[in-house]
Amino acid sequence: MSDLSRPSGPKIIAIANQKGGVGKTTTTINLAAALAERGQRVLVIDLDPQGNASTGLGIGLDSREFTTYELLLEDIDLNDVILKTETENLYIVPATVDLSSADLDLLSNEKRSFLLHDALRQTQMDSFGFNYILIDCPPSLNLLTVNAMIGAHSVLVPLQSEFFALEGLSQLMLTIREVRQSGNKELRIEGVVLTMYDRRNNLSQQVEQDARDNLGDLVFKTMIPRNVRVSEAPSFAMPVLAYDTQSKGAKAYRELATELLKNNELTPQEVQHV
Ligand code: ADP
Ligand code: MG
Repeated sequence: MSDLSRPSGPKIIAIANQKGGVGKTTTTINLAAALAERGQRVLVIDLDPQGNASTGLGIGLDSREFTTYELLLEDIDLNDVILKTETENLYIVPATVDLSSADLDLLSNEKRSFLLHDALRQTQMDSFGFNYILIDCPPSLNLLTVNAMIGAHSVLVPLQSEFFALEGLSQLMLTIREVRQSGNKELRIEGVVLTMYDRRNNLSQQVEQDARDNLGDLVFKTMIPRNVRVSEAPSFAMPVLAYDTQSKGAKAYRELATELLKNNELTPQEVQHV
């Protein structure tokens, strides 16, 4: 890795979009699984009180004794909060509904925007040897999402290929600019990925065209097709890469991982900074 700001540590990516249902959790789980399949050691941070990433990676409620809430607000041994998943090389800090009160509990903390940043940089983290940390953000631009953006090197934005997809993006970009001013001036945009893409649908094509016209190279070449196997996988508590390894969805997430790994071989100057 050539990013001078992280000589040896993991690349930390926040998966964010304040709209719900656009594919944040699906992308977190399956991109993480695809990176893990490529031999990267990957940690998912479930930062959504709904805990969908935890469920989708097979972590039952009874295994969530210590969660993102404790990671943020308590002095906890990372060995207790980082759980192994069924997928080799893939770990998770799970979430429960407890996290919904974190927004308030965070407010009274003077380091409120930096809690995740600090938690991910404690020295005990080094012993896990992670290459990538993916943060599954809640559908909001609240203090939890700000923690993700302050703690991350970049933001990856899933964009659902449907009407109004680009609406709200300006608000997201504004938040990113504010975060750059208020504590993380190096925050980059990793890219925008079109999700639930349907090649036969004119609307999908229109959204793709709009996104590429407006955002240029920030849009990943890889698009994630709408694929029923992708939506079925979470109810079997596994990534689509394990549930149906040859499905279109699994192949697309492998392709996205390849594109992301390739982008991260570039020198910092070559990575677009918008
Ligand atoms: P978010 O985390 O942004 O709220 P999710 O990842 O939970 O969004 O996705 C919303 C819904 O869309 C879920 O039911 C999910 O299974 C489904 N979904 C996501 N991506 C795809 C896809 N590529 N094909 C089919 N269904 C998908
Ligand atoms: Mg989600």
